[in-house]
Amino acid sequence: MKKLAYLVILTLCCSILPGLALADSDLAYDLGSRAATVAMDLLKFEPGDENILALTNAGHALIKGETTERALSGITNVTGLQNGNGNLFQVNRPNWKPLWFYFYNKKTGLAVYMEVDATTNSIKGEERKALDADKVFSQISLMMVDLDKMLARPDDANVTFNKKKFSGNEFSLIGLSNVWAKGASYDFMNAAAFHDHLCPGVTSGYMIIKYMEKNLPITNASETYIDIGSPNWCKEDAFQMIWDSTPGKNSEFVMALSAEDEAALKAKYGTRPAGIIIRWNDGAKKGTGIALGFDFDKVSDETRVTNWTGPSWAPKLVEDIGMMPMVDKTEDYITTLKEFPVDEANLTKLKTAGNNPYKVLGML
Ligand SMILES: [Zn+2]
Repeated sequence: MKKLAYLVILTLCCSILPGLALADSDLAYDLGSRAATVAMDLLKFEPGDENILALTNAGHALIKGETTERALSGITNVTGLQNGNGNLFQVNRPNWKPLWFYFYNKKTGLAVYMEVDATTNSIKGEERKALDADKVFSQISLMMVDLDKMLARPDDANVTFNKKKFSGNEFSLIGLSNVWAKGASYDFMNAAAFHDHLCPGVTSGYMIIKYMEKNLPITNASETYIDIGSPNWCKEDAFQMIWDSTPGKNSEFVMALSAEDEAALKAKYGTRPAGIIIRWNDGAKKGTGIALGFDFDKVSDETRVTNWTGPSWAPKLVEDIGMMPMVDKTEDYITTLKEFPVDEANLTKLKTAGNNPYKVLGML
């Protein structure tokens, strides 16, 4: 009944407001609202249900050379889900990948994935609206994605992964929905959505952010964090999204560290080297740096994924969930290997190609 009333209001609005009426005739909007309608039917929810999360690559994906952000409005207008309420996120994907929609109901643990069938894109308005959902979407999968339930019935979950029920997006979408259900913060979800998926590497970046903000906080407007990302891993994407430390603005320099050098540092300091973060004052042209260590062995032990013998799709997801409370006790996993003053001369040395930053610091 509520759904019907909502649709009546929506229809009235569309006929009164020319802007919305025009919008209703566009392709991406139609696809978003259609996906939302299918999801409400399959996952059994009404607009405004707080158990629902929507994820999509709308806005990143192109259809016939056009961007697809109008699909977000379609989802919001039908379901009430929106980014400002922390229940609709755009997941980063290359623009050549097909447009997809994913809805998750944390109350039941079920999720539906829909991928747009490219052939429907050339069918015009009314004719397209009359198409059955399985013609609009080349894939519609309704699967159990609650991690505890998946682990209890691994054979069913094996099908989800082995048959690529979410077109290869299984790990990404299942990880994001499970941490969201467990109360992940907005900035954490945003960082993972920018990274394309959630993984222990992104969480380690989020933990490093919390560690730095406690141990070397930004104290005035001239300061910024500069990341010397060596060795680099998924953590770098969290720094970009949350600190706005980006390569393009000279606040992130990423370089691989050889396996031998990484092993040598681990042997010397007893933990995995996790890069160097500098709090830099651009007015004073000086700062303070910290070379960090991150104890992934301890994380794996405590989340019980060391020597994992269960299903192969599970350990990273188990670790994702198990790491969530670690964000509040970063000192147990992160170590300051070396703290040092930074001036323009040694900043240049640390970030310049051909230099190993750990040798510049005398750590190797
Ligand atoms: Zn990752």
